[in-house]
Amino acid sequence: MDFPILDTQVYGHPLVYLDNAATTQKPQQVIEALTNYYLTLNSNIHRGTHYLATQATERYEAVRQQVQQFIHAASNKEIVFTRGTTESINLVAATFGRQFLHKGDEVIVSGMEHHSNIVPWQLACEQVGARLRVIPFSDEGVLDLEVYRSLFSTRTRLVAVNHVSNTLGTVNPVKEIVGIAHGHGVPVLIDGAQAIAHMPVDVQDLGCDFYCFSGHKMYAPMGVGVLYGREELLNQLPPYQGGGEMIKDVTFEKTTYNELPYKFEAGTPSVGDVLGLGAAIDFIQSRGMDSIVRHEEQLMSYAMDRLATVPNIRFFGTAPGKVGVISFLLGNAHPYDVGTLLDKLGVAVRTGHHCTQPIMDRYGIPGTVRASFACYTTTADIDALHAALLRIEPMLM
Ligand code: PMP
Repeated sequence: MDFPILDTQVYGHPLVYLDNAATTQKPQQVIEALTNYYLTLNSNIHRGTHYLATQATERYEAVRQQVQQFIHAASNKEIVFTRGTTESINLVAATFGRQFLHKGDEVIVSGMEHHSNIVPWQLACEQVGARLRVIPFSDEGVLDLEVYRSLFSTRTRLVAVNHVSNTLGTVNPVKEIVGIAHGHGVPVLIDGAQAIAHMPVDVQDLGCDFYCFSGHKMYAPMGVGVLYGREELLNQLPPYQGGGEMIKDVTFEKTTYNELPYKFEAGTPSVGDVLGLGAAIDFIQSRGMDSIVRHEEQLMSYAMDRLATVPNIRFFGTAPGKVGVISFLLGNAHPYDVGTLLDKLGVAVRTGHHCTQPIMDRYGIPGTVRASFACYTTTADIDALHAALLRIEPMLM
């Protein structure tokens, strides 16, 4: 069994874990990488001359290389370890904001962003008197690229959009979005939190300037994430946090900064979690990204067909080719009530606004019930969700 936690019993039912968009479970290999680090390697990296420090440093830097290859970055200087997507986006918003945003400037985001890809830009804009422009989306959950094209002006400084919506499952045409922005000389940040475990990501092919993701949504431990940034652009940004490791020389008069990527890695990083991320990439590659994609495609089509037979179900997000996530309501029942009853039957889903309140406002609803998949999700899990919904639907209608 790769995922020991999936054997859990919940209120006498076998756990059906359908909250993978919030966080995926961890395979045995990842748990072992983490415990082995603390059992055999624990030490602080980069500064040590002793055996453990050298070994830990080598392993940590090897994972950077692994990530570089995994997302096909041009150089390992472009891979910055962070705590997760949120920190990666905040890093760019704060530093890019300081360097390039001025009064009257504009940042384009989409209407289907996670709060993590809205609020950091609002903070950066507030500092200087810049503003957000928002790409709208259709009832199905498809971005309106015509409006997007019309949002550009001489004041546009950056575009920030997600690759896959955590609420709607829409796979956004990010390569096209990047192409349009670059046509105006505007860089693009992609929030890849919901894409990275579900499809191959090639940052050079996408052409994006920044790509952000969290380890814990791709079978790795919590506490580690990645910021990919094009070297040329990262070099133009000021440091984010000050501290150890990010400096070259410090005097009270003047400090010079370390080279990439260390300039953006102040302080002691989460070394064990980074090694866990390496093990998670090994895990994904051993399953094969292509076979994960095929499996999840079949699962999505099975699940949409099956759930469509539940009386009074209403889906939110029906874009063609959507990935990983099914958001729905049962009639006008509150999503929290549906989630609570599902839980009592052993089915773990998420309810609420999923940190995407503007999406809820767009549809005029308080929230949704969200079932989300991972590579270990089976048609039996979907059947269990379906059976549970059939049971609770009459109670709520
Ligand atoms: N963006 C998207 C699309 C997400 O789904 C999430 C997590 N729900 C985040 C950003 C934030 O990720 P984290 O909490 O791991 O920083």
